[in-house]
Amino acid sequence: MAVYTHSVYVDPERCTGCTNCLRRCPVEAIRIRQEKAVINALKCIDCGECIRACKHNAKRASYDKLSDLDFSKHLIALPAPSLFGQFNHLDEAEYVINGLLEMGFKEVYEVARAAEYVTDLTRIYLNSPKAKKPAISSACPVIVRLIKLRFPTLCDQLVPILPPYELAGKLARERALREHPELSPDDIKTVFISPCPAKVSWAKSIMDGQTVHVDYVTSMNDVYMELLKKMKRDEDCNGNVVSEAGIVGMSWATTSGEAASLMNEGYLAADGIDNVIKVLDDLESGTLSEINFVELNACSPGCVGGVLAPTNGFIARLRLQNLRKSSGMVVKPNDIADIEKGDRLKGGVIPPEYIESDAFTYMPEGAPNMLAMMLAMKKADALAEKLPKKDCGACGSPTCKAFALDVVNGDAQLSDCVLRSQMEG
Ligand code: SF4
Ligand code: SF4
Repeated sequence: MAVYTHSVYVDPERCTGCTNCLRRCPVEAIRIRQEKAVINALKCIDCGECIRACKHNAKRASYDKLSDLDFSKHLIALPAPSLFGQFNHLDEAEYVINGLLEMGFKEVYEVARAAEYVTDLTRIYLNSPKAKKPAISSACPVIVRLIKLRFPTLCDQLVPILPPYELAGKLARERALREHPELSPDDIKTVFISPCPAKVSWAKSIMDGQTVHVDYVTSMNDVYMELLKKMKRDEDCNGNVVSEAGIVGMSWATTSGEAASLMNEGYLAADGIDNVIKVLDDLESGTLSEINFVELNACSPGCVGGVLAPTNGFIARLRLQNLRKSSGMVVKPNDIADIEKGDRLKGGVIPPEYIESDAFTYMPEGAPNMLAMMLAMKKADALAEKLPKKDCGACGSPTCKAFALDVVNGDAQLSDCVLRSQMEG
């Protein structure tokens, strides 16, 4: 059985136990133990909110460093559409592509191009009788994991199509094998340039029966610094490389881009993890039945706001708008007939199954059943009534209610509540 591998981690040397991250975690995955933050791997969705919250740089993301990549291999760069929003006054996408080739990548396959295939596949899926509405995009891995763990009744509404970065890896590898018969499959490695830690986790967590098409995931921050040295804006590189992506794929970098590209009026697009959770609550209670498609992004305003991207997400969004205008980007049509008959694109499109299906039940050890969980919750509710209800975080749990459940589950001592001890004293 495979285990989910997280990108987000705590550097205990830097952690001061200040509790800033404790209350920002949307799934209450963090506790402070012995004055250090600890992440519950079963609950964490790799949203990166704690990285944003930590002023001491103690919350970090692991990913493949550029220096660890073997550039003697046939490395294919897979730049996320958000990468193109990082540069001031960028008027042609080709400068970025050329810069990646200058860095030593042998090829570039734009994730935006794969996103255009996902758009067409989703349109076909939404028109098919098997689509369960409202269908929920499976492009953001934070949302997929959140649904799997906390909203399991919505799982069958996730669109069963590979996210663009995975499809890009698959298509890039197939193209390289076709065009370079001298290469063996092991010579070809795909490298996704990611704006967020969740996509690192996705690629590193190979679930049973799943094929991952991305070999390495590196940080957009690191690539950006190298690209700045390599991009030659004073030279006309249009003759050497041509961007294959159109306006539809590039629009995926910001919220509503994916949903609007479907040209289906009944859609809802939301971003920011707290807003997303509210929408999922509504979806679970069935109050959004008039909607066909839901696009949810953990980051605001979409992937451009990921914690591994160097530029403020709102500025990056503006830069992308300018790039689309200045480069005269158009819709690049796909060969729909090829997609419709092409199982090549549809193969292996199911999001991975996570093993921690009971992560949110937080059951006591040795009692892995619903009844035991309900009893624990009931006990915790009763205990929470006797707590000060200040949600101060001094006990190391994010709220009094979470602390009560920790005590019931044997993960904390009642005496850890400083205020209660004072009240009793
Ligand atoms: S924000 Fe969290 S990880 Fe950062 S120092 Fe404070 S307790 Fe530690
Ligand atoms: S990455 Fe998100 S879910 Fe994981 S511990 Fe940090 S805030 Fe919580």
